[in-house]
Amino acid sequence: MEKKQVFRIPSLLLLALVLILTQSCGKTAPDAPTRATGESPSPLPYAIALHGGAGNITPENLAPEKAQAIRHELELALRLGDSMLASGARGLDVVEQVIRRLEDSPLFNAGRGSVFAHDGRQSMDAAIMEGRDLGAGAVAGVTDIRNPISAARAVLHNSPHVLLVGPGASEFARLMELELAPPEYFFDSARWDDLQRLRQDPKMGTVGCVVLDQFGNLAAGTSTGGMTDKRFGRVGDSPIIGAGTYANNASCAISCTGHGEYFIRLALAKEVSALMLHAGLSLDSACQVAIHQQLSPLGGQGGLIAVDKSGQLCWSFNTPGMFRARANAEGLFEVQLFAP
Ligand code: ASP
Repeated sequence: MEKKQVFRIPSLLLLALVLILTQSCGKTAPDAPTRATGESPSPLPYAIALHGGAGNITPENLAPEKAQAIRHELELALRLGDSMLASGARGLDVVEQVIRRLEDSPLFNAGRGSVFAHDGRQSMDAAIMEGRDLGAGAVAGVTDIRNPISAARAVLHNSPHVLLVGPGASEFARLMELELAPPEYFFDSARWDDLQRLRQDPKMGTVGCVVLDQFGNLAAGTSTGGMTDKRFGRVGDSPIIGAGTYANNASCAISCTGHGEYFIRLALAKEVSALMLHAGLSLDSACQVAIHQQLSPLGGQGGLIAVDKSGQLCWSFNTPGMFRARANAEGLFEVQLFAP
């Protein structure tokens, strides 16, 4: 009688197969933005750039004392971000702290010293985004939150929403126990004079920061008082994710400044990322294309700062100047105001 062949899988092999199968089922989708793992910083490089607005910034129309004061503020903000990153701080914390510092200075159009709207009031917009999971938070049209960037961050962490506006955003900030401030706190006489001096030449001066931290995570933030003489509840690009602010670990982190309507129409910050991801451009090429081949032909004015996942830093603008600064782990430390 023919002997029936019985194939036995050795029990150890079986156990190994089960283990492999269960482990691969638990993996996250490969296209999900990657989360850096581990609590201790890896030896990855870090990099930071910040801006204090773009516009008609030339040595002729910026008094030397004012230029020096702005340079000094940018330097202090950069030093703060640089040292936080060097000691292993998270990108989101660095972006928030650097922007808070710039918001507290009346020299920039953000927080204290924001420009005046047509009705003689000040209202502010801000956004923050992290590249590891595309988390984002933003506020717009807020009038009494001392540091709008912190309100944006609270929206990111403590609400199911991305963008809160006006009194609702203030109510949320109050619930989050953020510091509020009366209109007098934000008032700056130079900004008031800008409004009185007539309203045809809207002033710029938004602040922003982009970071690659030692964990390989990208983050971006932008904060602004908007444009002088704005009306009818106008909101610019800064708090609009993908327009003035964007971060994605797969590509880059971007903060824009300039005539917001154009940046919104072009979804310019996201465009830089898309040019890298889908057209294979380097960070530098993507920034140049976005500013000079897309913003300029449309008639828009402004600029951006950017950092990519490998720590490349880049800035690009089509205005006579942009207040800007950058630093990295290799000792780069640079502050510039005017076009080269
Ligand atoms: N982009 C800002 C806005 O349109 C203004 C600026 O960057 O100066 O609100």
